[in-house]
Amino acid sequence: MATEEELLERRREAERQAREARSQAARDAGHPEWADLPQNRSVARSLGVSSYFTGRPCEAGHIALKSTRSQKCEMCAGVRNPVGRPRLRPVETRTVWERRFQRAAELTIWHRTMHHLRSNGVIYKTDQKVEGDPSEAYREAARKTDATGKLHCVIYRSGRFLVRTVAD
Ligand SMILES: [Zn+2]
Repeated sequence: MATEEELLERRREAERQAREARSQAARDAGHPEWADLPQNRSVARSLGVSSYFTGRPCEAGHIALKSTRSQKCEMCAGVRNPVGRPRLRPVETRTVWERRFQRAAELTIWHRTMHHLRSNGVIYKTDQKVEGDPSEAYREAARKTDATGKLHCVIYRSGRFLVRTVAD
């Protein structure tokens, strides 16, 4: 029967081997510096670090960093958003107007009636029925509102979505 001291020693040895395996995985992935990152999400969170490295493969077999926020493998996230396809910027880096106009676009698509933004950010619905995809027009309205500081709006004329300034 093992003494308490022997058990402790075995545990230390197992931990040392796990650390070494993780360092080796980081070197094999071509990123030895990953071994210096937190090894799990709770440590990463407590340190305020945006990614961590477990050293173990993800479900798809990647040895890669994981996002602290989503717990997702960064390689898998990259595969889902391949280069060349426009990626939505993360919500927090989009401007307030981009978010508001996107919401107006979604409501317009969903209800098939126009939705306008007021300068205080409130979205209101009109009775005007629409067809087609207004997303690009709403994005343009957001860009112009951001660039000029003057609220723009999307109007619907003869089956087209047009961007105009709001007469105040
Ligand atoms: Zn993966």
